[in-house]
Amino acid sequence: MSVLYAELRPQQFRERLAAAPIAYLPLGTLEWHGEHLPLGSDGLQAQGFFVALAQEVGGIVLPMLFLGPDRVRETDGGPLYGMDLCLTPSPERQYPTQQLDGSAYWAPDALYHDLLRATLAQLARAGFRIVVGHGHGPSTHAFDEGQEEWHESFGLETLTCWGSEVDGEGLGIQVDHAAMNETSLMMALHPELVDLTALPADPTVWPVGVGGSDPRVHASRELGLRIIALQKERMAGLLRALLADLSDWPV
Ligand SMILES: [Zn+2]
Repeated sequence: MSVLYAELRPQQFRERLAAAPIAYLPLGTLEWHGEHLPLGSDGLQAQGFFVALAQEVGGIVLPMLFLGPDRVRETDGGPLYGMDLCLTPSPERQYPTQQLDGSAYWAPDALYHDLLRATLAQLARAGFRIVVGHGHGPSTHAFDEGQEEWHESFGLETLTCWGSEVDGEGLGIQVDHAAMNETSLMMALHPELVDLTALPADPTVWPVGVGGSDPRVHASRELGLRIIALQKERMAGLLRALLADLSDWPV
């Protein structure tokens, strides 16, 4: 049986919901992720990881969102968002600030909050008790910051995939931007969509719009598979504990 919400017939939906009332919300973007990764990388990674998790623990994976918040700077040439702005202090990772091709995702914080609120209201109404939201960094922060509000308003338990002790080592889910971590995850989940040869061959030239450890040196499919296995086990443990709590406290 599919784990994708859009592909379920009502009886399949009822069965999956009764077995595990968990919704997985991939927080995407259509956003430059270097010349080597596709524009939908954020949603594709979150969705791919969620499908693996739903197959393990149960639950239903929602369609990807592609609007998200991010830092913004108004300029004479129009607004610049997120990775358009090179803000790293690291001298070897500099690139010219510019509008990056293909990025089309930005939404103001207040609008994004309302979008999340409406989505979560609908998921609670449909019968879900737990929602895992994850993907694009600022979207994931916004989802996480609303945790108390989502609980008070809708009775939902919400969590992201961040928070493991190995996040800082690059072994979390989406813990950099188009660098070692995200590139490895894409190589594991969608190898046909990755082209490392599109990055500068000269190792002294930093790839535009990439933030983190150099993907040309450190990214691999093996690393991506290792991260997924590690984080799937961790998240499955957290979700099974939450499900056990729910059965103690019926609605
Ligand atoms: Zn990303």
